[in-house]
Amino acid sequence: YNHKDKCDEVRNLTVAVRIRPMNTRELTHVGATNVVQVKEQNVIVTPQNNSNVTKLDYVFPYDHVFWSCDERNSKYSSQEDVFVEIGQPLLHNAFQGYNACLFAYGQTGSGKSYSMMGPDVQNIDCDVNSGIIPRFCQELFTRISQLDNQCTASVNVSYFEIYNEKIHDLLLTNCSRDVHAPLKVREHPDWGPYVVNLSTHTVKSYEEMRKWLLLGNVNRATAATAMNEKSSRSHSIFSVELSILEGRNDLDPGRRSKVSLVDLAGSERLGNTNKNEKLKEGVSINKSLLTLGKVICALADQRKGTQFVPYRESVLTWLLRESLGGNSLTCMLATITPASSHLDETLATLRYACQAR
Ligand code: ADP
Repeated sequence: YNHKDKCDEVRNLTVAVRIRPMNTRELTHVGATNVVQVKEQNVIVTPQNNSNVTKLDYVFPYDHVFWSCDERNSKYSSQEDVFVEIGQPLLHNAFQGYNACLFAYGQTGSGKSYSMMGPDVQNIDCDVNSGIIPRFCQELFTRISQLDNQCTASVNVSYFEIYNEKIHDLLLTNCSRDVHAPLKVREHPDWGPYVVNLSTHTVKSYEEMRKWLLLGNVNRATAATAMNEKSSRSHSIFSVELSILEGRNDLDPGRRSKVSLVDLAGSERLGNTNKNEKLKEGVSINKSLLTLGKVICALADQRKGTQFVPYRESVLTWLLRESLGGNSLTCMLATITPASSHLDETLATLRYACQAR
């Protein structure tokens, strides 16, 4: 059968929004209210306004909307619900041999890492609170164990961050390499862009995968402490390569796929840092997030006709080129808070996510 015919029917790009509960700070903010509501697949924002005359709602439509504010609400979406809706399809596709990308986008503190990892990135257990990545890894091995006896599956992981358009390996186990020396991107004639000297690790079980994840999370947190909040300004990419050989004949190329699970830098304007650092960071962080926005828009438009996709404009999009567009599945998860005190950032996030549709 023809992939292309199939892919014309399937939507390769999905956009989801998740609304987290208000935190204590937001609740105790003077005049704090909840300005976000959900109706079907729409997010509705009602800015506070003293005069009732000019009160206009903003309505944003998405593919999925996850209301995660109050568990007693019938609309409530748990960690599992989020995984089932947006994580499982990527896993399913990976077993068919397609690449996939999932991005968490939003201001710092809006729930990106909670959604991707869970409430505590240094303590990943597979329980009700686990985020998309641990669930993805666990189910990956469950599915591998259910494969036909003749199939051999192999899984490789890598984990790195992009800070200031520079790549750092998060899975270095010894200090033989200078951890501060950034890695470079090169173009492979067959496989496309890749990171030179990035460590990749073969894993045979969920437990092994979890160990690498934890190491990466610890390394990321350590680097962040050393450099004042770096983690909210860097993009972290956990990448899983799956290859399945059917084993029926030696010429069988098998199925290969790569899934990149990306926790993006905070989308807010940069806070109070020293001016030089701020300038340099401002340029490159916005560059990656802006380019990602442009690439996703161009891909959304591509369905209507050919259009140039500016992958090469940022390290993030260049590296993920083979997992964006084409037969790949891309999902953007935008995270927001419903608190009135963050209205402007929330609207900015909702607009960014909406342009992709
Ligand atoms: P970010 O990664 O965007 O900076 P976090 O994921 O660290 O934000 O979330 C900030 C805080 O809010 C954390 O304490 C986290 O546990 C909490 N939080 C985020 N999303 C949710 C949610 N859906 N349900 C409950 N708590 C959440």
